[in-house]
Parts: sequence; C-alpha cells; structure tokens
Amino acid sequence: MTEERPLLGGIEAGGTKFVLAVGHSPDEIVARHEIPTRSPDETLAEAAEWFRRHLPLKALGIATFGPAIVDRADAAWGHIGTTPKPGWSGCDLAGYFADEFGVPVGFDTDVNGAALAESRLGAGRGVSSLAYVTVGTGIGGGLVINGKAVHGSAHPEMGHILPRRHPSDTGFEGICPAHGDCLEGLASGPAIMARWGKTLSDFPADDEAFEVIAHYLAQLCHAIFAMTAAEIIVLGGGVTKSRGLLAKVREISAALDKGYLPGSGKHRIACPGLAEDSGICGALMLAGDAIS
Ligand code: ZN
Repeated sequence: MTEERPLLGGIEAGGTKFVLAVGHSPDEIVARHEIPTRSPDETLAEAAEWFRRHLPLKALGIATFGPAIVDRADAAWGHIGTTPKPGWSGCDLAGYFADEFGVPVGFDTDVNGAALAESRLGAGRGVSSLAYVTVGTGIGGGLVINGKAVHGSAHPEMGHILPRRHPSDTGFEGICPAHGDCLEGLASGPAIMARWGKTLSDFPADDEAFEVIAHYLAQLCHAIFAMTAAEIIVLGGGVTKSRGLLAKVREISAALDKGYLPGSGKHRIACPGLAEDSGICGALMLAGDAIS
C-alpha cells in the first residue's frame, strides 16, 4: 500500500515487542504492526521493511525502553545506553532510521512519549504538566512540564527513589541490582513475584499485599506532586490494573499530602486515557515534533 500524503511513522520500542505505526497525526493512525524484539539487526531490519510499505514518510518518532541517550548535546544522542538486553547496548536506534529513510527522527523514552501523548490526547488533555508512571516488569516515569518532556543530563528514573518501608513488609530485601529496596526493587511485578510467589491480582482484594504495594506507589506520587507540582499522574502498566490498587494509591497519597501541598486539591491520579496506545501515540508525536 502506498499513501500519497507523507505519513508520520512511530516506533514504540519495548523489551519484548516493537509496536510500529504510521498516521497522518498521532490520533489518526493509518496502519499498525507489532514485531517481537530480537537482536537489533533483525528487529530494526524488520521494522524498516514494514515502514517501506508505507512510503513516503515525513518523519519518524521513537519512544524506547531505557536507558536511552536523550541529551541532544551528547554525541551518542539517539542511542540505547548500557543495558543487560543482549546486543542492545550502544545501539544507534535514531541513526539507523535516519539513514534508512532520510527524514527527521524524534527520540525519547517510552514513558516520556507516553507522558506527551497522555498530556495532549489522553487523561491530561488540557493540562500542561503531567507525569506518566508505568509499573510492570520495572517502574519508570516520564514527565511533561509546561507541555515539554523533561530532560536533564539524562531522563528521569523515577523507579529508583528510596521509599520508607511499610511496617509489615519486613524480611524482603528488594530485587534492584543497584539499590535493593528502591521503589522498583519493592513494587515492580518481579518484586511482587519474588516476595510472594504470585502476582497482586492473585490475592483477594482485601489482602494486605495491596496496602503494601499502594504504600510504595503512593510515596512516588507524593514525591512527584511535591517536586514538580504536576497536575495529573497517570499510572499505567500491568501491576496498576490489579483491581482496587489505584483507589488505594489515591487514598494513601492524599493521606501523605495531609493537605499541605498548595495544589493538593487539584491533584489527580488517573489511569491512562489512551489505554494501551499511550506509547505509540507518543512516538507519533515525537515524529511530529521532529518536524516543527
Ligand atoms: Zn533501584
């Protein structure tokens, strides 16, 4: 199929799959496709082959798993950083697609992409400052302040804050290879599995396990509200779908605030407005932003 109007291309690069899409705009997707994440050579070639069916492209956006080099001043901009995923360390994702298609390429983390999409089209439509947090195989967060994704020397790593321990969560050291009991080490899907041998959804709704995990996630929400004054935190990822967890996070986060934060009456913790599409819509936005 060949489209006459040049299209935006988007890649949501994940650890297990790549989601590909082309569209006239982030909310007008023409075609989408998924491929499994294998070696960089195989995966990028397969992705490029799919995009060649949808030429001409006017720009490509990549929202990727991290760590990713997002600092424009860094010579390695557009590359994957050091990762345990075999073969992917130092992969020049943005350069590969810029060379293949000769179009502008936007590049950011998957969670910053999702934060952009949720702020412009999803749960945060109409607000200028929003955080997107995913809780699944890891915990990651993206941040949009005044309409722009936040970068500094790198990208935010919200999963690695150091929360207070829940009084009854004793004897579990946490699973983060770097920090042990950081937030990701305590509340990610693998941490839940390592501690209890099952997922949160396997527990009855009134089990204390919900309280323990919500206690940790609420501390991240409190930290985000306190540090950034974001209006909305969107909580996505597999763990947050466990029934009743979001309500508990809201309840504990409000209790932590104690009405102190100036924006506490306006804060919201929401589920994604774009369901599973936050990441791929964000990738298409990165493509659009690469042109303008
Ligand atoms: Zn950590």
